[in-house]
Order: sequence, then C-alpha cells, then structure tokens
Amino acid sequence: MPYPHLLSPLNLGHITLKNRVLMGSMHTGLEETGDWNRVAEFYATRARGGVGLMVTGGMAPNREGGVFPGAAGLFTPADIANHRLVTDRVHQADGRIAMQILHAGRYAYSKDCVSASAVKSPISPFQPHALDDAGIEMQITDIATAAARAREAGYDGVEVMGSEGYFLNQFLVSHVNRREDQWGGSYENRMRLPVEVVRRVRAAVGADFLLIYRISLIDLIPNGSTWDEVVQLAKAVETAGASLLNTGIGWHEARVPTIATSVPRAAFAHLTGRLRPEVGIPIITSNRINTPDVAEALLVDGMADMVSMARPFLADPDFVNKAATGKARHIAPCIACNQACLDHTFSGKLTSCLVNPRACHETVLSYDPASAAKRIAVVGAGPAGMMTANVAARRGHRVVLFEKSGSLGGQLNLARRVPGKEEFDGLVDWFATSVADAGVEVRLNVAATVEDLHGFDEVVIATGVSPRDPGIAGQERGLSYVDVLQGAAVGRRVAVIGAGGIGFDVAEFLVAGGHSATLDLATWRKEWGVADPAERRGGVSDPAPEAAAREVWLLQRKPEKPGRGLGKTTGWIHRAALQMKGVKMLGGVSYLAIEPEGLRILKDGVEQILPVDDVVLCAGQLPERGLAEQLAAAEIKAHVIGGADVAAELDAKRAIDHGARLAARL
Ligand code: NAP
Ligand code: SF4
Repeated sequence: MPYPHLLSPLNLGHITLKNRVLMGSMHTGLEETGDWNRVAEFYATRARGGVGLMVTGGMAPNREGGVFPGAAGLFTPADIANHRLVTDRVHQADGRIAMQILHAGRYAYSKDCVSASAVKSPISPFQPHALDDAGIEMQITDIATAAARAREAGYDGVEVMGSEGYFLNQFLVSHVNRREDQWGGSYENRMRLPVEVVRRVRAAVGADFLLIYRISLIDLIPNGSTWDEVVQLAKAVETAGASLLNTGIGWHEARVPTIATSVPRAAFAHLTGRLRPEVGIPIITSNRINTPDVAEALLVDGMADMVSMARPFLADPDFVNKAATGKARHIAPCIACNQACLDHTFSGKLTSCLVNPRACHETVLSYDPASAAKRIAVVGAGPAGMMTANVAARRGHRVVLFEKSGSLGGQLNLARRVPGKEEFDGLVDWFATSVADAGVEVRLNVAATVEDLHGFDEVVIATGVSPRDPGIAGQERGLSYVDVLQGAAVGRRVAVIGAGGIGFDVAEFLVAGGHSATLDLATWRKEWGVADPAERRGGVSDPAPEAAAREVWLLQRKPEKPGRGLGKTTGWIHRAALQMKGVKMLGGVSYLAIEPEGLRILKDGVEQILPVDDVVLCAGQLPERGLAEQLAAAEIKAHVIGGADVAAELDAKRAIDHGARLAARL
C-alpha cells in the first residue's frame, strides 16, 4: 500500500479514523451566503475524496467572538438544522467532521470585541473591552454551549481554537494579558481560561466525542509563550479532557510568514515532534505540508500521529484517494499562493483556489460529460490553455493543444525560476500529467497557423502575453525580465523598471543570487528571525538575512509605495523580503534614458543617474493576439482567453479560471 503510515487508521477509542489525514480548518465564506446546501456539498466532496477527518471553518460561539460582524456560528437552535445538513451529507459519504469553535477575542473586527485586557492588536482598529469575571464566565459558557450544539448537530467532534493569537491565546501571554486577578499574572493563572474551556467543553459533550485543542507551539511575537509553558499547557489540556492536540503556528500579527509559498515545506513540524513525547494523546502537525510524500515522511520520522493539510483540499478534494491509488502525481498541488483562498477571504469574496476554480463552487461550476464530443483546438500551453484542454478533454471532447515552444507551462516556467516559488514546479508537472491523462493530443514546437486550425469545431486562443515596450530612450541597452529569469548575465548593480508582481519577482531573483532560502530551513529561519521557543520567548529573534547578491533599485512611475497591488496576505512578505536585502524601492520616478553610465531618472524634480550595470524591463504586458486577428480575418470563430484576451493584471488565477469556465461550457 502506498503511504502506509499516512493511510493507516487512527484509533481514538470510541471512534477510529480511516487514515491520518486531517483537513484543517479554513474560512470559506460559504456559511455566510446562507446556502447551506453549498456548504454541505463542499465538505461532502472532500469526504468522498477519502480524507480521515475534517475541521470546519471557525464558528463563533457568540456575537462578540465572531471574526467579523455576521460571521457564521452556532448561536441558536435554528443554526443546528443548517449544520445538520452538513454533517448528514458528510456521514452519507463515509466522512468524519468536527466543528471548529473560534472566538476571535481582540481579533474580532468589531467595536464590541473583548479580551483579557484592553490592549489593541496591531492588525485591528478596535481596542477590546477587558472582560470582568462574569464576562469571562459568559464566554466559557457560550463556548461549551456551542460544543453541545455541535454534538446535537451531528458533528463527530469540536476543535477549540487556542492558537494563532485568538481569544484563548490572548490570555496565555503577558503581551495581551495584563490582569492581576485569577485569570492573569502567573502562568497558572494565564492558562486558566483555555484549560477551563476544555474542561467545560468536555463536560458539555460527554466522553464519546472528539475534542481537539489547537495549541500555539510558537507564537512568533515578542513576549509570547516559552516552550516550557507550551508543554505545561499541553499537559493541562490533556488532563482537562482533550482527545487530540492540533498544531498552531504564529499569531496573525506575527511578522514572520508561516504558510506562504516561500516558507519551507513542513518548516515547523519539528515542534510538533518535540511536544509529542510530552503528552499521551495523539498530536497533529501542520503548516506548509502539501504532498503525501512530505506527510508520510513526517509520520515515519515520528513528528506526529496525524497530518493536517488545509489548502491542499481546496486544490484537490481527492487528495487522499489519489494518494491511495498510486496516483500522487495526479493530485492538483496547492502552491501556497493564497491568491484565491486567503486573499479572497480578506477581500470579502468567497474562497476558491487558483488551481481548482471549482473549490467552493461545487454546486455552480460543473465539468459534466459533454452531450456531443467535439474536435477542439487550443493554441498556447500556458495556464489558460492547459486548463481549457484538460477540462474539455475530461468532458469527452477530442482536444489538440498546440504550443510553439518545446514545453508546457508558458509564463509558469518563468515563475518557477524565482527563489521562493519552487511550488510552481509541481504545478507545471501536474498540468503535464493531467493533460496527458485526459488524452489531450499535445503538439509541441508547433506555432499554429490559420491553416492548422481549419476543421475544428471550436478554436481556443490562449497565446498569452508579450512584454510591453516602455519606449524609454536607450532601452536597447536594457534586459527583458524573460531573459533575466532564463539566465542572462546580470551585473552587480541593477535597476528594475516596473514594480508589479514580476518586478518584485525579478528583484527577489537578483538579490538571491541563485540561493533559495525556501530550500534551506536554517537560512530561512535566520532570515526571518525564527528562534527556538525553548531559548527565546515566542520563538522570535532579530532577523539576520544573508547579504544580497546584488544592489537593486526597484522603480515605478506611480507616486505610491511600490508593492501596493500585490496580494493582500502576501504583499507584506515580498516587501519585507526585499527591504531585508536592502533593495531601494522608489515610486514617482520618470525614466529619462538608459545610458552607459546607468539609468537617468527624474525623481522629486531632481534629475539623477542611478549608477547601475544593468536595467531590467518589467513594465507589464500586452495581449499576444496576432493569431486571433488572423482568424478573425479568415472568418474562423475563436474563443480568446487569458492574457491573449486581457493582459492587464493577468495572473495564473484569472487565466486558469477563464480556461476552466470556458471548457465547462464547450
Ligand atoms: P503589472 O503588475 O501590471 O506591473 C507592471 C509594472 O510596470 C507596474 O509597476 C507599472 O508601474 C509599470 N509600467 C506600466 N507601464 C509602463 C511603461 N509604459 N513604462 C514603464 N513602466 C511601466 O505587471 P507585471 O509585473 O508584468 O505582472 C503581470 C501580472 O502577473 C500581474 O498582474 C501580477 O498579478 C502577476 N504576477 C503575480 C505575482 C504574484 O506574486 N502574485 C507575481 C508575478 C506576477 P507604473 O505604471 O507606476 O510605472
Ligand atoms: Fe493553495 Fe493557492 Fe489554491 Fe489557496 S489559491 S488553495 S494557496 S493553490
């Protein structure tokens, strides 16, 4: 059997999980739509995919504990019927599901938020109200009541959210808890609330119900918990009635990335491994684990009893079934980009997935078999073209995919060369595997002509983009980002023109000098100041990045700070990474000329020369529509998608989504 550890059952006494895979909690936004059929289908799809246990998105135990006003919860008996739809559908699919109880404390986006003390978080505009004794008692009662209702609603258990800087975590550390009563001061007092919550939840749900406690193993904030405190809490929570411990890493206000694609895989799993011998209950590891191989290796190495993956189940609900049937390469990989999941959540949009546009859209986007098989030509094997070909072929069409270069991938082949974006390798590999498996006829090294496209029932143009000509005097002395990412020689001092996603990527490529910290955990920890919580409270120390390989200026014409348009949840990481490497980011620049001495610019009314050896042009893209126009002239109808359609703000998310939606209709 493949992955014998990961796929072995886990006996938890009154219940045995069929394997060691947990789908971790994710906010989808579906509950807030009020369409509980859609919620049920989201989870049931993943249950059918074979996962051992799922944890729902965080459910508020009361109004003040909701992450935002109107956040879903389990406040009233009426809510129980909605949740029952979900649990019934999951159980019909032979799945198991626990409900996460999430009290946000001072992270609640509301002026009514509450916490241990009136200490505002740096990521919230609201100062919390410090709870009095009666207020604390009410929160405990509400959490225990939510757990009892979860049982009534048919869940197999609850997860009590005690990490990531939420309510219970806030009481644990003097950073937020400034109380001098029985709930503050000594560590025994500071941990009283989480332990009491677990005790009362256990009393409310009875013995034969799963109670997972999500414990923060490393807070990654100043004055966070020490390792001894973490161990003390874990033992107390076990005694209070927890049946499993899940791993939480870093508070939301931490200035250390914990789940982004540039975080090394399984970067924090050793901490779960360190806690494991201290407790007698099974322990679950998490963070940046996205393949069955990595998960299996963690179990083999004794790092945990179970492995939590969350976003990988957006990318592929059939993760476990594919792993179990020897089809691991067919698992659509989560590349940890956050572009369609967390970035959506933080923009008030429904969660989905860059790799899988059906995620959270199971009831509205389907890839049903086509009523009649057509002959379809797709031109261009970038993300838009590959997704179209893949979905169309799976629906029963006969698809020919033309690609003028010698390989599949398009712009993804540039992204994968950027240090910290190694996950794109897996994405290109998956597309190649999947397109072949779907029976697509791939014609590499063929620049399709109008003649080639005669006789097809449908023609899809996914020819992508080409770099914009910025029209700067002397630009023939500059380099295109395409050449740079493909290995062209670049000097020690470099100016990058254009500070969009690609300008940032190129700057990171240039300062890294071929060494990716994502593939070197020790360097990555030093770079971000991640210390051992046994030595430094909260596991934070001063960042000590390696020297930059080059001196880089990153420029744009807009007067604002470069990087404002980057992803909501990842932009700060890119900006911080470049700042650490001394990259000089300038907005409000006019480009006068590229000269032998460097780049002549006008900034704040002052003309100056940046003394650089090379200038790299990353000034955006234009649609590559030559073939589309020739087809139009020949009166051959074609669908134009992805960058060939609209280049502005094109990214892989939009390209893949466009391709998937077209292929679902063809
Ligand atoms: P972009 O985001 O549109 O940025 C283009 C940059 O070029 C801007 O900084 C723009 O700033 C500048 N520019 C535009 N016209 C110019 C001109 N005529 N002369 C000089 N500068 C000019 O495009 P991109 O960086 O090429 O990226 C393309 C897409 O790929 C983006 O939409 C992005 O979402 C995606 N991508 C995403 C990531 C990611 O991490 N999520 C990474 C890479 C790429 P000014 O106009 O202010 O000068
Ligand atoms: Fe993973 Fe990106 Fe999909 Fe989110 S959008 S699940 S991070 S691949």
